[in-house]
Amino acid sequence: MSHPDRTIIALEESHFGLDGGAMFGIIPRPLWAKTNPPDEANRIQMSARCLLIIDPDRVTLIDTGMGVGFSDKEREIYNIRNQDAGLRAALSQHSLRPEDVDEVILTHLHFDHAGGLRTPADDGTLRPTFPNARHWVQRENWSWAHSPSARDAGSYRKGDFDLFDAADAPPLNLIDGIAELFDGVEVLPVHGHTFGMQVVKIEAAGQTYAFVADLIPTASHLRDPYVMGYDLQPLKTVEEKREILYHARRDDWILIFEHDPTTAMARIDVDGRGRVIPVPVETLSHT
Ligand SMILES: [Zn+2]
Repeated sequence: MSHPDRTIIALEESHFGLDGGAMFGIIPRPLWAKTNPPDEANRIQMSARCLLIIDPDRVTLIDTGMGVGFSDKEREIYNIRNQDAGLRAALSQHSLRPEDVDEVILTHLHFDHAGGLRTPADDGTLRPTFPNARHWVQRENWSWAHSPSARDAGSYRKGDFDLFDAADAPPLNLIDGIAELFDGVEVLPVHGHTFGMQVVKIEAAGQTYAFVADLIPTASHLRDPYVMGYDLQPLKTVEEKREILYHARRDDWILIFEHDPTTAMARIDVDGRGRVIPVPVETLSHT
């Protein structure tokens, strides 16, 4: 099915910075600094990018960005910017409000993906940002997020997702493995970055897209050893990345990078030396 009436749009929720060494694992700084120049604190620029899928009868959002729940100290450490605007402003550019979102697919519950699930109300309390949406996450990631290891506990903040404990919470659907959530929107679990993350594969207007989340966070992470230091099972990431890139090249998928500061979408090619390279797709919005 080609889904001729489906539009997909990349939304920039915010920008922040993470340590370049942590983002590129074992890769020496002189190599990654060429494509991702660090600032004086060794941070590289990161985008918190979400994906909007607009169907005639349904509005779907993939991931929710950083949100607003950060202390001044955290804002300083992570160089968090553009927070005043956030998702509400990004949605309004497309004549949508958070209340219009029907489905929220969470790739995983790390704070830079799930932080936008809550928004301060007028009285200062934090309320669900998408009160009318069904929310989707892999059951395995939901479980892990509630009892992560000491090593990755800092990436999961229970306050981001305990809204689902409330009696009047919007619905949460836990997914077990590969699933087609609705026509032409499929989730593919991967486990190298964290347990039960999911890549989202979308068919729109005859083109296949893959929102690859933290499996390939930026266009600079395509090659095998370019694996984040954060990953719990780095060899698994290498395997899972190879598989996605194989399909992307063979079947002409467009990959959508959640954290690349400049390249939102790219096709995949191989250069004269046999190395995987991105071929950026210029526009952010596809009909
Ligand atoms: Zn993550």
